[in-house]
Amino acid sequence: MTILRIVIPSALPGSLDYLAPAGAGAAALSPGMRAAVKLGGRACVGVIAEVADRTEVARERLKPVERVVDAAPVVPASLLELLQWAARYYHQPLGGVLRTAMPLLARRGAAPQIPQSVFWECAGGGEAPPPRAVKQRALLDLLQDCGRLDEAALARRFPGWRPVMRRLLQRRLVTRLEEPAQAAPPPRAARHRLNREQQEAVDAVAAGFGEFHRHLLEGVTGSGKTEVYLALCEQAMQRGEQALVLVPEIALTAQTVERFRAQLAGAVCVFHSGLTDRERFHCWSAALSGDAGVVIGTRSAVFLPFKRLGLAVVDEEHDASYKQSESSFRYHARDVAIKRAQIGALPVVLGSATPSLESLHNALQGRYARRHLTRRAAGAAPPRWRVIDLRGSRLEDGLSPPLLAAMRERLAAREQVLLFLNRRGYAPVMLCRDCGAALSCGRCDARLVYHLCDGRLHCHHCGVSQRPPDACSGCGGGMRLVGLGTEKVERHLAQLFPETDIVRIDTDAVRRKNELQRRLERVRSGDAGIVLGTQMLTKGHHFPAMTLVGIVNADQSLFAADFRAIERLGQLIVQVGGRAGRGAAAGEVMLQTHHPHHPQLQVLLKSGYGAFALQLLPQREAAQLPPYRHLAVIRARSAAGAEAAAFLDLVHRASQECARRHATQVFPPAPMMMEKKAGHYRAQLLLSAADAHSLNACLAALLPAAARLARGRKVRWHLDVDPGEAV
Ligand code: ADP
Ligand code: ZN
Repeated sequence: MTILRIVIPSALPGSLDYLAPAGAGAAALSPGMRAAVKLGGRACVGVIAEVADRTEVARERLKPVERVVDAAPVVPASLLELLQWAARYYHQPLGGVLRTAMPLLARRGAAPQIPQSVFWECAGGGEAPPPRAVKQRALLDLLQDCGRLDEAALARRFPGWRPVMRRLLQRRLVTRLEEPAQAAPPPRAARHRLNREQQEAVDAVAAGFGEFHRHLLEGVTGSGKTEVYLALCEQAMQRGEQALVLVPEIALTAQTVERFRAQLAGAVCVFHSGLTDRERFHCWSAALSGDAGVVIGTRSAVFLPFKRLGLAVVDEEHDASYKQSESSFRYHARDVAIKRAQIGALPVVLGSATPSLESLHNALQGRYARRHLTRRAAGAAPPRWRVIDLRGSRLEDGLSPPLLAAMRERLAAREQVLLFLNRRGYAPVMLCRDCGAALSCGRCDARLVYHLCDGRLHCHHCGVSQRPPDACSGCGGGMRLVGLGTEKVERHLAQLFPETDIVRIDTDAVRRKNELQRRLERVRSGDAGIVLGTQMLTKGHHFPAMTLVGIVNADQSLFAADFRAIERLGQLIVQVGGRAGRGAAAGEVMLQTHHPHHPQLQVLLKSGYGAFALQLLPQREAAQLPPYRHLAVIRARSAAGAEAAAFLDLVHRASQECARRHATQVFPPAPMMMEKKAGHYRAQLLLSAADAHSLNACLAALLPAAARLARGRKVRWHLDVDPGEAV
């Protein structure tokens, strides 16, 4: 009797036992293959986690699988091991982990499909379009000029091309070609000669191919870390292996991908949430078949089923977006990548100009090999920093006279200016002129933000919006808008610099498909004089003509309660500043603040990020926080006021025994910083231990009890291991 232990990619806990189909020899079955099964009468596709010869399930209750889907595993053994580790470490059902690891079409049982590139070119014959078919003639001209074009190029150069192309195809004027996407064009761009520091970094990593090594590559912004990744990917491919390059966000992927495609001989695939289900499935298939030489992807790319992964890179390893903080499976892609490298015996490179305190601590402890790139690679000088004391300064919509003067000068010299403001919308507060009452969201402990684009008040936490009232509901007084958002600064800039093309980049501005790329293109081409935006702007972008960066206001973070706030602020300031002066002309960063003497800010600006981070470490140690302690948080929410806290009180009481046994500290529950969100009251319970192992053991003992306590109560709860934020 052959038993298949099958995990369904859903939140179902554990695996289910099925009988192998009659006639299928155990030898032909292996873990990682998919099998179609019936579950409660419903057809599902699961993954075989184990092939066994006995089961606890009674013979008559055992159902056969309907069909084994694959002839070879689609979850390779080392990946299955990784997923099992993640399920244990994050205390998630393996099915939930699998769900994250498999794109939709793979979960539905589709056969792996190698992506095809589609091109269109002139057929050299056919029936000429009538003279009034202007668009058809224009598209035909474009194809004649360019030879062949793919979808991406057509979308860029001929918006609305599809119906026009259909007509041309009907007239047999063009042909549609398909070829395997892995037939990548030969590298087009000449490679830079690596400088000494880059070469040493490459050599150090390459010396350990085929073995598990962790490297921390600390390179100042513009020091050429990407060139180091490129050289390493090339070497991995020459060894017949694949490389995974994790990047924080989609915004970054396009530019990085272009560089990789232009410079590497081999297929470079992308994987991120902006793709269609089919595109994600193609990339998954290409990783599995080995056709993808390099995959550049965001967070969940860390779970792709590589045939022979030889190198993992985590670019901007400090970035908070590597931590999944929304779904139930709250993993950290950097940490999973490291585990993956350990299981697969391969080197992993963490790169950043502003490493996280976790990675820095690991490097200082000797766990990571440390490499530095100390200079900007293209010979550019590091940007000059200037602090602008806002106390007593007269501001025009948030901009100080020295910043405005510097902007005028740079724009006159046809250089670009970047302004950073981490607040979207027009004004973050609307209040009554008479009684001072500010408008809050009825569902959240948060102010409503006024947006110019639709003239409405929005809550940034739950998404509701409403029309602004004409008068205060309390006293009938008139309303006024206070504070500064990107829309307001944009409008002000348009008045001050009517001749200048101003590009705003924030989540509101780039909601439409491809809008971000269009706006970035305006910046890159040099058309834009001023770029104004939020966090989205800070990362990875390389704008050679950008010489002045103005940080409009970052003061909120100086006194935030979240224990990572100051670390993140330092990273943000250095990363935004790093956009200045990456080309030939020297750059300058102006930081506007009401707290020019803030001690940590002083260290950051005088001595740089390294000194800044080193000084934060002992503070973390004294406060018993990561990287010196391991944390987990149980968060609960309820519609009724005290339910969540009451539930966590019970969990807290239930934890005493296992906390003692596993040397874990469990703090009494506390309301979350924003207690009310989207109509729910929220509380959290913090657990802390000196090592991950103790914490894990304590959680393993506590969670079943918590699940029992939650039963029948009107609370929702989840666990977050290594939380991104906690107080
Ligand atoms: P980082 O990723 O560290 O911010 P990049 O890899 O984007 O830096 O490199 C910054 C700039 O320096 C890019 O324009 C890149 O082409 C250039 N560059 C990188 N390495 C070299 C080199 N060895 N010689 C000359 N230019 C280089
Ligand atoms: Zn709200």
